[in-house]
Amino acid sequence: ILIYLFNFKIILGKNGVPVAENFQLEQSTIPDTVQEGQVRVRTLYLSVDPYMRCRMNEDTGSDYLLPWQLSEAADGGGIGVVEESKHNNFAKGDFVTSFSWPWQTVAILDGSLLQKIVPQLVDGRLSFFLGAAGLTGLTALLGIKEKGHVSAGANQTMVVSGAAGACGSLAGQIGRLEGCSRVVGIAGTDEKCSILVSEMGFDAAINYKKGNVAEQLHELCPGGVDVYFDNVGGDISDAVINQMNQNSHIILCGQISQYNKDVPYPTPLPPEVEKIQKERNITRERFLVLNYMDKQEASVLQLCQWIREGKLKHIYLALIYFFISLEAAFQSMMNGGNIGKQIVSVSK
Ligand code: NAP
Repeated sequence: ILIYLFNFKIILGKNGVPVAENFQLEQSTIPDTVQEGQVRVRTLYLSVDPYMRCRMNEDTGSDYLLPWQLSEAADGGGIGVVEESKHNNFAKGDFVTSFSWPWQTVAILDGSLLQKIVPQLVDGRLSFFLGAAGLTGLTALLGIKEKGHVSAGANQTMVVSGAAGACGSLAGQIGRLEGCSRVVGIAGTDEKCSILVSEMGFDAAINYKKGNVAEQLHELCPGGVDVYFDNVGGDISDAVINQMNQNSHIILCGQISQYNKDVPYPTPLPPEVEKIQKERNITRERFLVLNYMDKQEASVLQLCQWIREGKLKHIYLALIYFFISLEAAFQSMMNGGNIGKQIVSVSK
C-alpha cells in the first residue's frame, strides 16, 4: 500500500529553533496484509506538541521520552480509523487513538498501542480527543487537581501562562470550574488576550510582548496570586512568582520558553526568585500527566461532560493544517502561531 510519511532527518542539538528541514516528506509502502495482533489504521488527525522539541535532541533529558530516530517516521499523538484488524479488541471502522502514532497517512500498528475512542462523547468532534478530551485536557484537569490546591469558596486568584495555548486555555476555564474566583491569563498577542476574555471566561489577560508584565499583574491581581499554572517558565514565571502569596501553589506544567536552550528541566529558578519561593512556602513540584493515567478514564468522562454542557470551550485553530504541512504546523506552534490546540488534519 502506498503511503506518505514525515521522516525525521536532522538532529537539532539542544540549542536551536526547529526548522522545516528537520523533517522530510517521503513516499513509501507498507505491506497489504496485517499480522496477528496488528491493526491497519488510516490516520485522521495528528497532534503537534512542545515536548516533541526534546525528542529532536540526541538525549531528550527525560527517561519517559525517547529521541526520534534519524530516517524514521516521527511520531506523537494521533487519531485514526481501523481499516483492517487482527487484534481482538478492534474491528474495521473503529475510531482509535495512540500516544505513539507515526507521522504517516496509513500505518500498521501493534494493537497494544491503541485505545478505542467513542465519538458520541464529544458529539462526534473526533479531533477533541487530541485536545480538550485527550492528553491536553487531562494535563489541565489533573494538573489543577493534583498540584493546584484549588478549593471552592476560598477566593483564590489563578494566573495561567501560555494561556491561549492548548493546555493554558483549558486550565483557566477548569480553574474557574473548580472554584477560583479570579483567573488572569498571559499570552503573546492582543488577539489571544481578547479571545481569552471574550470567549474563554478569563477575567483579564496580559500580552507579555507589550508593556511590563509585573506592573500589569500587580494591577490585575490586587490580592496576589494563589495558584499559578506555569506553561512557559523564564522571565514570565519569575514575574508571577514575585507576586504569589504565602502558602500558594505553582502547577509546574511546562517551560516552553526554555525548550530551545541547553538547560535542565525543570529550569532552576534564579536565586532571588528561589528565595521568594522558599520564604513564602510556595510549592513547585514537577507535574507529569503520564504519572496519573489511573485517573484517565474518569477524567476524560468529566472533560467530555463539561464540553457537551458548553462549560469547557475548546478553541479552534486560527489556521488549519494538512498532512503536507505537518512540520510547518509544529514550527508554528512552537512560535505561538496557534490559538488553542494545534491539530493537523490528515484525511477525511
Ligand atoms: P501550546 O500552549 O498550545 O503551544 C505553545 C505556546 O507556547 C505557543 O502558542 C506560544 O504562545 C507559547 N510560547 C512559545 N514560546 C514562548 C516563550 N518563549 N515564552 C512564552 N510563551 C511561549 O502547547 P501545549 O501543548 O498546550 O503545551 C503547553 C505547555 O504544557 C508546554 O510547556 C508543554 O511542554 C506542557 N505540557 C506538559 C504536560 C505535562 O504532563 N506536564 C503535558 C502536556 C503539555 P504565545 O503566543 O502566548 O507565546
